[in-house]
Amino acid sequence: MVIWSQVSKLHMLMRLYRQAILDPLTGIYNRRMLLRLGKKSMQECSQNDKPFSVLLFDIDKFKRINDTWGHSVGDKVLTGFTAFVQGKIRKTDLFGRYGGEEFILFLPDCPSDTAIKISNRMLTAIRALKLPINIENQSLSITTCIGISTYSENDTLASMLERADLALYQCKHSGRDCSNFHPIDLQYENDERLKIAEKISIN
Ligand code: GH3
Ligand code: MG
Ligand code: MG
Repeated sequence: MVIWSQVSKLHMLMRLYRQAILDPLTGIYNRRMLLRLGKKSMQECSQNDKPFSVLLFDIDKFKRINDTWGHSVGDKVLTGFTAFVQGKIRKTDLFGRYGGEEFILFLPDCPSDTAIKISNRMLTAIRALKLPINIENQSLSITTCIGISTYSENDTLASMLERADLALYQCKHSGRDCSNFHPIDLQYENDERLKIAEKISIN
């Protein structure tokens, strides 16, 4: 009886822990946990003189999928996309849902040229992906935009995310289904970075 009660308590704690760190729809890290782990990974890379890159994904015209097929099909696309990307990454990479149809892949020990190659490979693979939607045996295709940034001295995770976001914005403006790397601007002043960091709260 005592053992049974301890085991069910443990199960309950594990369930609560999973709820606290995972996104309920996709089962990958939620925003809070993703940013927390990303910050730790970035700091470890910087301390060990290793590169660190960020890929920020945004599914193109996702609202149209919801509007055309309904929210539950939209949800299926999000889970299908997540499972697909998860199958393509290294054990040390961190993948999570940043919000809505936006996802982040943190790449420890990955310089900018490799991050750009990885993004281009991802874009090609995603383009070829057929996501089943359980309606008349149909499947949907999607495209994504990927904003890329790589750690440089004095960066914070927030300033890296801000650059990836600016790069993503450029992708959307140049027709979607592409990736873009935001190089660190040499004119970019430290206090400018602090201002950016204040906008994205990471604890
Ligand atoms: P863009 O190419 O510019 O990124 O266009 P978009 O339509 O992808 O972007 P927009 O921000 O206009 O729309 C995102 C949509 O994602 C709106 C929102 O209702 C939907 N969305 C956010 N979270 C979920 C979710 O969990 N499930 C579903 N089905 N839809 C979601
Ligand atoms: Mg978006
Ligand atoms: Mg989108």
